[in-house]
Amino acid sequence: MKTIGLLGGMSWESSVHYEELINTDVRGRLGGVHSADLIIRSYDFAMIERLQGEDNWEEAGRVLAQDAQRLVAAGAELIVLCTNTMHRVSDEIESSVDVPFVHLADATAMAVRAAGLTTVGLLGTRFTMEQTFYRERLESHGLEVLIPDEDERTIVHNVIYDELVQGELNRDSREQFLDIIDRLGSRGAQGVIAGCTEIELLVTEDDVFLPFFATTRIHAEAAVEAAFS
Ligand code: GLU
Repeated sequence: MKTIGLLGGMSWESSVHYEELINTDVRGRLGGVHSADLIIRSYDFAMIERLQGEDNWEEAGRVLAQDAQRLVAAGAELIVLCTNTMHRVSDEIESSVDVPFVHLADATAMAVRAAGLTTVGLLGTRFTMEQTFYRERLESHGLEVLIPDEDERTIVHNVIYDELVQGELNRDSREQFLDIIDRLGSRGAQGVIAGCTEIELLVTEDDVFLPFFATTRIHAEAAVEAAFS
């Protein structure tokens, strides 16, 4: 089993979930008292959120690439970036290290394709829904990606930053997300990607009538798969 380097804390609410999923998967594979071999860099999310707000992706890429190198120097044999949004700078991270980088959008697109779907709705931060880095990566796997309309995107983005990353789970917000998912379905989405690692803390596949692709779960599984390959 390889040592996994996690770039986390974006936010820690979801990193905790990553850790739990990865450890549970490893226990399932190896049994007994086994658990995952992890090295974690967990950020103060306020610093990350400031760089996002300033549109300073260059600095964000520098910080994350430098820390990926630190994880490798400490023994990490693969790198996992525990957030959809910061995949905006995945190229900078990937090119800075000589160990595998487990790309979240690739793993998610493969899960969607494996389910036999071609058109998916995407929920996430404004950056993830509106910029090209994430949608184009999904499209490169042959997927068509639908995003919510402007008002809905504002709701989703604000719930993520004002509630989910701060550990707040509100029933009204869950209902709003479910309405937005319904509308994506009526526009032709065959499934929906929870393209923000905190969304699955609020909405689960049991709440949704469409196939629901929970990116933290998918990414954690891909990380463990890579650790055993
Ligand atoms: N964790 C979230 C994501 O998956 C949002 C927080 C962030 O901006 O990194 O996109």
